[in-house]
Amino acid sequence: MARYTDPVCRLCRREGAKLFLKGTRCYSKKCSFERRPAPPGQHGVRRRKVGEYGLQLREKQKIRRIYCVLERQFQGYFDRASSSPGVTGENLLRLLELRFDNIVFRMGFAASRPEARQMVGHAHFAVNGRMNSIPSLQLRPGDKIEVRETHRTREPFKEAAELIRSRQVPEWLSVDAAKLAGSVLSTPRRDQMPLDLNEQLVVEYYSR
Ligand code: SF4
Repeated sequence: MARYTDPVCRLCRREGAKLFLKGTRCYSKKCSFERRPAPPGQHGVRRRKVGEYGLQLREKQKIRRIYCVLERQFQGYFDRASSSPGVTGENLLRLLELRFDNIVFRMGFAASRPEARQMVGHAHFAVNGRMNSIPSLQLRPGDKIEVRETHRTREPFKEAAELIRSRQVPEWLSVDAAKLAGSVLSTPRRDQMPLDLNEQLVVEYYSR
């Protein structure tokens, strides 16, 4: 499966915002964006006028990169969002929030979405009692996820309970830190998705 393998801090500098792709480093003084917020490249510091299309494109790229989704897959999410009832932009964010890897991150099992994606790919989790290693799996209300019994003593989970307790879990999810398990209570509303994003720009981008 294709994936982005270049330094991820460049992406934050490109988008002009912290995308939190490196876990604890993102919250420390070592964050590259904090130290060097200019876009990457030789002409990064040059001021450029950004037009309407540029704004739409940057917002689309920002959302895609936050959720670590490639272009074609993102287009697929948009198509599903626009053909579902309701507000397209909100539908799009909801589909992304309900990805298996995002929920592992939101529950606090991983410090970043890329880490969550790797954990899921390494088959550390079970969904509704059955092992699942598909990061893009769409979860639904009522679904239960847990760290598989035989994986609980493995490296990524030695301090997971502490990490989970230190995180604020969204109200549409519930987590039991001691049992290393959690469940999806409902689909998230826009006000329950703490994202500083303008999804309407993405709708405009694809509606050109
Ligand atoms: Fe982005 Fe995190 Fe790198 Fe900072 S440390 S630039 S927030 S990925």
